[in-house]
Amino acid sequence: MKVYYDQDADLKYIRNCRVAVLGYGSQGHAHACNLHDSGVSVVVGLRPESASAGAAGQAGLKVLSVPEAVAQADLVMMLIPDENQEQVYREQVLPSIRKAATLGFAHGFNIHYEQIEPRQDLDVIMVAPKGPGHLVRSTFQEGKGVPALVAVHQDCSGKALGLALAYASAIGAGRSGVIHTSFREETETDLFGEQAVLCGGLTALIQAGFETLVEAGYAPEMAYFECLHELKLIIDLIYEGGLANMRYSISNTAEYGDLTRGPRVIGEPSRQAMRRILQDVQDGTFAREFVLENRAGRPVMKARRRQSREHELERIGQQLREMMPWIGAQRLVKTPQQ
Ligand code: NAD
Ligand code: MG
Ligand code: MG
Repeated sequence: MKVYYDQDADLKYIRNCRVAVLGYGSQGHAHACNLHDSGVSVVVGLRPESASAGAAGQAGLKVLSVPEAVAQADLVMMLIPDENQEQVYREQVLPSIRKAATLGFAHGFNIHYEQIEPRQDLDVIMVAPKGPGHLVRSTFQEGKGVPALVAVHQDCSGKALGLALAYASAIGAGRSGVIHTSFREETETDLFGEQAVLCGGLTALIQAGFETLVEAGYAPEMAYFECLHELKLIIDLIYEGGLANMRYSISNTAEYGDLTRGPRVIGEPSRQAMRRILQDVQDGTFAREFVLENRAGRPVMKARRRQSREHELERIGQQLREMMPWIGAQRLVKTPQQ
């Protein structure tokens, strides 16, 4: 497998390009600001009523309507939510996009599951940072970068990979590593990773640990520190040097408990569940469910979000974090409730 770095990217591909970033959310703001700081000509395409228009303008970026931004672009980057991309492509991108322009994605969902079938004259690329958008921006500003995946779906010009690498470099990913993959591999591994490990697996693990201690009569504050707060310190150690690095730092008691009890928590039933989750991703079951959920107005998402917000873990967490104001001072994300 080939990993590319800044020295492998030729920035002329992106410097000769007018880029339209559609959407100014988690990824959109990071890509647009990083490109701008790298000297790339970029405009942001938003809905007229969009709440993000003010923020984009304050960051020194030109904001246009989606069709206007698309019409003047050589590269149109689709950084709106996956569930809105098909409609926006059909109604606002396709009528305005130039002949032989490039259509870009940060996730392969709509191409891989054929929700969008791009016009034949377009190049189609992906530059998918392997991290949340707010880190893509803050890491870039620190002179570092979040790694990214690049892929090519259509290459009419013969320059699609060159442009993808140059774009990855301009948003900072070439500082830490850019992996060449396919839309299929990115989509399936990304969905599996976020469902089974990074988001789904992790939050379920935290919640189950918290509930087990609370059910057994321990104070919820204790359970919060033990099962959630300390996790960051452990992850920081794993991130900088792998599992062994973390195990070197913890006590022998903790390490023995880790090595012998961890596989009981994530045993054969959990591995079976992971295989089924992967299968649902591979055979389109998850994609169909997500597309239909959105068409129905997101009833499951709304109910589960509410249930989760009302959980004792979140209430206790808010109280305890108020006692640690430095956490709030260094926030990466501001959610609408705050
Ligand atoms: P987001 O929800 O944070 O932001 C979406 C933006 O699009 C907002 O500015 C919103 O106003 C705008 N928008 C929504 N509907 C629109 C419409 N109909 N027309 C015009 N603008 C519209 O989205 P995100 O999480 O940054 O995701 C964007 C893409 O990046 C997705 O393909 C996602 O899979 C991918 N991605 C996201 C992350 C991440 O960190 N969030 C990481 C890797 C890849
Ligand atoms: Mg994802
Ligand atoms: Mg301990």
